[in-house]
Amino acid sequence: MWRFFSRSLRVPYSKRSVANDSLRSHISRFFSTDAGEAPYTFWPKKESPYTIVDHTYDAVVIGAGGAGLRAAIGLSEHGFNTACITKLFPTRSHTVAAQGGINAALGNMTEDDWRWHMYDTVKGSDWLGDQDAIQYMCREAPKAVIELENYGLPFSRTEDGKIYQRAFGGQSLDFGKGGQAYRCACAADRTGHALLHTLYGQAMKHNTQFFVEYFALDLLMNSDGSCQGVIALNMEDGTLHRFHAASTILATGGYGRAYFSATSAHTCTGDGNAMVARAGLPLQDLEFVQFHPTGIYGAGCLITEGSRGEGGILRNSEGERFMERYAPTAKDLASRDVVSRSMTMEIREGRGVGPLKDHIYLHLNHLPPEVLKERLPGISETAAIFAGVDVTKEPIPVLPTVHYNMGGIPTNYHGEAVTIRGSDPDSVVPGLMAAGEAACASVHGANRLGANSLLDIVVFGRACANRVAEIHRPGEKQKPLEKDAGEKTIAWLDKIRNSNGSLPTSKIRLNMQRVMQNNAAVFRTQETLEEGCHLIDKAWESFHDVKLKDRSLIWNSDLIETIELENLLINACITMHSAEARKESRGAHAREDFTKRDDANWMKHTLGYWDNEKVRLDYRPVHMNTLDDEVESFPPKARVY
Ligand SMILES: Cc1cc2nc3c(=O)[nH]c(=O)nc-3n(C[C@H](O)[C@H](O)[C@H](O)COP(=O)(O)OP(=O)(O)OC[C@H]3O[C@@H](n4cnc5c(N)ncnc54)[C@H](O)[C@@H]3O)c2cc1C
Repeated sequence: MWRFFSRSLRVPYSKRSVANDSLRSHISRFFSTDAGEAPYTFWPKKESPYTIVDHTYDAVVIGAGGAGLRAAIGLSEHGFNTACITKLFPTRSHTVAAQGGINAALGNMTEDDWRWHMYDTVKGSDWLGDQDAIQYMCREAPKAVIELENYGLPFSRTEDGKIYQRAFGGQSLDFGKGGQAYRCACAADRTGHALLHTLYGQAMKHNTQFFVEYFALDLLMNSDGSCQGVIALNMEDGTLHRFHAASTILATGGYGRAYFSATSAHTCTGDGNAMVARAGLPLQDLEFVQFHPTGIYGAGCLITEGSRGEGGILRNSEGERFMERYAPTAKDLASRDVVSRSMTMEIREGRGVGPLKDHIYLHLNHLPPEVLKERLPGISETAAIFAGVDVTKEPIPVLPTVHYNMGGIPTNYHGEAVTIRGSDPDSVVPGLMAAGEAACASVHGANRLGANSLLDIVVFGRACANRVAEIHRPGEKQKPLEKDAGEKTIAWLDKIRNSNGSLPTSKIRLNMQRVMQNNAAVFRTQETLEEGCHLIDKAWESFHDVKLKDRSLIWNSDLIETIELENLLINACITMHSAEARKESRGAHAREDFTKRDDANWMKHTLGYWDNEKVRLDYRPVHMNTLDDEVESFPPKARVY
């Protein structure tokens, strides 16, 4: 706090603002034409409020969650001079909140095979996942988990000292024929916490340069369509930083906060996605938003699927274990979209619990107290704090809550960003990569299986680093930045900072969140989606009338939240329009007017562009091929649990 005050007293930035119209000339004065070989160049300000600092790195990673840290570790191991930029202190990234675990066919509890895991993932994706990428992830999974163990991750153990693996939704043995699989490795119900801290510890061993509490604003795109780095705002002192790099890896996480009720942290605002959209590149499959069946009613905090993996049961107001009707085999461990829809149907048909009959009970009170203490200590505490429930005695009130974004920046299985160019639907964007929840590889297709995301982030974080090592050398000479690189972004930032409309950021945000919650919900119809498109477009227009009270550049949370709101709005608009266009039901996208999956017309990825502040849609094919003959691809069939 002292530092904050002393600096803000010494540097009264708010007094240095310049009028918008003279900004352009000010900006250009402080750019050099070539960042040159010097890794660090500093341009002092005179009249402009903006100081620009230039950096040159081999690679820049944006995000220090599981995906960003794993990428940064790999890049440093390969000898690349790497910067990692993060708006949060690394161990505050949303990965820290992950509870249930990470899937890998280690075979510690029963015989297992990565091909069975692959089958479950393809089926879970409702055949929208790219099978080459899914093969890559499931085959790498056992190695990735052992690597984490070697890094020091304190996994829960079996009696004989092996990594303990619990049951999780949608996981089966023998291509769905062998019953429930026990494939989810965990550290009690705090797996993400253990994973993130372990990775951060490893990252500290290497010479990755961290830029903590730096907010990435935009990509630095060359006019030839390649990415040359990123421009970021140092939130502490308001300086702007251009990071010039041969490889830029976006690992900025999801955008759950576009919705009113979400398990994701308030910082999950889809910044990386929006940066890609503003650069004229597409976002893929945003209509697929996962609702987790068990968010605490009212609070939205997550109760891990691991609680059902350990034997927890959902019951309606009649005390009935209703999942037996909807998914006779997998029951409470059917995949998330199926359970969320079943719960919603029970509530709609009047069998919800509570005075308003608007939620469902999750019972853990029949489980032995030792199991709760040893395997589910975190959620026992969460239930006590946020629902006032003693899980050994009472059920937890739960409701499907927004949890995960299957869509994101389209990539191939190396993590390279792709777009459509001419007749090539898989054309690589040079210099740009993405991993983790921000990316869409697409291993989750239309519905992610629980415990496949922690896997995704480490496997594809590492894949990005390996790909960079295949195509670049440490210290390689880079094409200079274009003369005006970042100029548009600074003008945009300045405009937002000086916005003087009539609507506070919080009001526009609440409106957006309500529209998303009501109109792009668990069940969707043409009517709700058309109305949703209209309302979300209006929410976007209202953003032009935003008002900021704080004009400073020092710890200006008003400014940061407003930029995050713009980012959320771009994600929200593309989500709604993509959902309206898709006339079928698949995975998490459940339409009451088109109840069947339509492979003939819709087995394709949606690409959403942000063109002159309007959504434009296109489509690219799903990869049905596998990488090699170690496994055959799985042809589409009906998805029953
Ligand atoms: C409550 C909860 C429980 C979960 N449990 C599980 C589970 O048990 N198993 C599982 O597989 N999955 C789980 N998931 C999903 C999984 O945890 C996430 O999908 C995954 O951790 C995302 O990791 P990430 O590295 O992609 O992003 P995050 O961990 O969200 O990190 C994003 C990073 O990007 C940075 N960043 C973002 N925007 C900017 C910007 N503009 N400038 C600079 N930096 C920026 C942030 O600082 C942060 O470091 C859970 C999710 C939630 C919300």
